[in-house]
Amino acid sequence: SAETSAVRTVRLESPDATHRLGVRLGELLEPGDFVGLIGDLGAGKTHLVRGVAEGAKVPRSEVASPTFAIVYPYAGRIPLYHADLYRLTDYDDLYATGFLDLEGTDSAMLVEWLDKIPQAAPRDYLRVTLKHTGGDARDLMAEAFGARPAALLEAWMP
Ligand code: ADP
Ligand code: MG
Repeated sequence: SAETSAVRTVRLESPDATHRLGVRLGELLEPGDFVGLIGDLGAGKTHLVRGVAEGAKVPRSEVASPTFAIVYPYAGRIPLYHADLYRLTDYDDLYATGFLDLEGTDSAMLVEWLDKIPQAAPRDYLRVTLKHTGGDARDLMAEAFGARPAALLEAWMP
């Protein structure tokens, strides 16, 4: 991947803080943006994505619908795909989902468990890592790889 050009860290003291940060990211996303989400089960990846979807004006009903799909399409202000690689083991698995055909197009991608299949990431992307730090607190680290992700990060967390 491209060299890391920017890093931000923030302590999120509550689910609501995480949600609000997600909403702000959702307001900034543009077609072609790729956000990888890393962190243990319960770290808050999906919670953050719900905020992103709200910020991107995805109807709430779409996000709430439970499904076992690997890739969820959301129609918001821009087309958005929310993928969860948790149940995949290798690149062939990912190929089979059709996910790779969606990359680099007119959509923004939000990908949980990117660390399971790191090759899923394009050269330029924003990597967000969430960690439990006791109770309802989470530490979020965001790393931008490439110029557009750095600009996105700068706008998201000035
Ligand atoms: P993941 O997708 O990383 O497995 P989820 O977002 O599904 O995690 O679940 C996170 C859980 O942790 C939710 O039940 C959420 O309410 C809770 N939670 C507690 N504190 C926070 C926080 N600061 N940020 C995000 N989620 C939090
Ligand atoms: Mg999740």
